Amino acid sequence: MKIMKFGGTSVGRPERMHRVAELVIAQQEPVLLVLSALSGTTNALVAIGESLSLGKKEEAKDRIAVLQQHYHDFVRGLLQQDNNLLEADQILSEHFGLLDMICQVSYSEALNRDILAQGELLSTKLFCVYLREIGVNHVFLNALDFMCIDENDEPRLDAIRHGLSPSLHTGVGKLFVTQGYICRNAKGEVDNLKRGGSDYTASLLATAVNASVCEIWTDIDGMHNNDPRIVDRTRPVEQLSFEEAAELAYFGAKILHPASIWPAQQANVPVRLLNTMEPGAAGTLITERSLGRGVKAVAAKDGIWAIRIKSSRMLLAYGFLRKVFEVFEKYRTPIDMVTTSEVAVSVTIDSDAHLSEILTELGSFSAVEVDADQCIVSVVGQEIGRENGVLQDLLRSIGMIPVRMISHGGSPHNISLLVDAGRKKELLQQLNQGLFGL
Ligand code: ASP
Ligand code: MG
Repeated sequence: MKIMKFGGTSVGRPERMHRVAELVIAQQEPVLLVLSALSGTTNALVAIGESLSLGKKEEAKDRIAVLQQHYHDFVRGLLQQDNNLLEADQILSEHFGLLDMICQVSYSEALNRDILAQGELLSTKLFCVYLREIGVNHVFLNALDFMCIDENDEPRLDAIRHGLSPSLHTGVGKLFVTQGYICRNAKGEVDNLKRGGSDYTASLLATAVNASVCEIWTDIDGMHNNDPRIVDRTRPVEQLSFEEAAELAYFGAKILHPASIWPAQQANVPVRLLNTMEPGAAGTLITERSLGRGVKAVAAKDGIWAIRIKSSRMLLAYGFLRKVFEVFEKYRTPIDMVTTSEVAVSVTIDSDAHLSEILTELGSFSAVEVDADQCIVSVVGQEIGRENGVLQDLLRSIGMIPVRMISHGGSPHNISLLVDAGRKKELLQQLNQGLFGL
């Protein structure tokens, strides 16, 4: 069995959904299909939830009406037969009816997660109506019946496997359709795997069913060597190891959800990044080992805070780093980069949710300085940390751009630089030239 996951833009227009059906039907082996919500839908649902959280019910209702109209038009492009249109309209009534109902009751975080779940439920149900219209046998699976996370929001792989397996062994089909992103939490409430989480769903399912491959279909021909939204000339990377891909996804390559590599890696299921608009293109293959040497790609992650912590009396006495790290642990705030000198430590974090508490606690035993609006630029490739010449090329490419932190030697596959967000574009362009000759 293979996993095929299609993102929002791949299902965002009726003709694209038709295309997805074509691609899926053409497969020889059984497929577990994972769909995102239509592009724009989750953003719209987030906005509806925001309106409600601010008590702006009329605004929320207006937003629901706009979204409903979009779906009304969408199904008319998707389907031709009246009986199927009728069914699709019933699906829309059910889900938009639920949204209308939520508007009547008082807002809660749990209800907000119900709102967010409607996008994937809609896209998969409508897709199944289309499959029926073209006479394709399939099994609809509700991810809320088997996708689950624990108290720490970590996926419960065994439970997922056990929940899913009976449905896959009913023997009725070779095409199973389910939702990305949505799940149930430890309380049994509807929850989700965070924005972009459909990739994560796909990878978790790949492990759960021990898939032959986990295909992630998007609107770009694979992971690129640099950010194509910022740099003019980029090219797809043919192959990456799980480790390289995880570093790139974590450090800003938007094509993949950062957590979506480890499950596939655990079961050693290859991941393939493919382009729905150009299905013949090679895309990027992610496997256990890295083929080829040297720098594979560069990625950038914005929205970073750098904190410099100076030990006033103790200098770097033993126990100092532990004290520093304990503060971050207490506030469940992961640290991305660390650099140390004899008297100071610099760390970066990507959320300011608990920044003020963290600063207060650090301030009780050290002098603290913060820089906001920083950007981590990561250079990734198998063993580049050990390869002669890479660091020299890198330093030369940086030129005169001021670097706030540099991290080399942590992972052998990654060298990271921290710069002011305002210098990101320049740095990515210079690295593109200096490291890839592009
Ligand atoms: N629909 C969700 C989002 O837009 C999940 C996903 O597409 O991966 O974030
Ligand atoms: Mg995505």
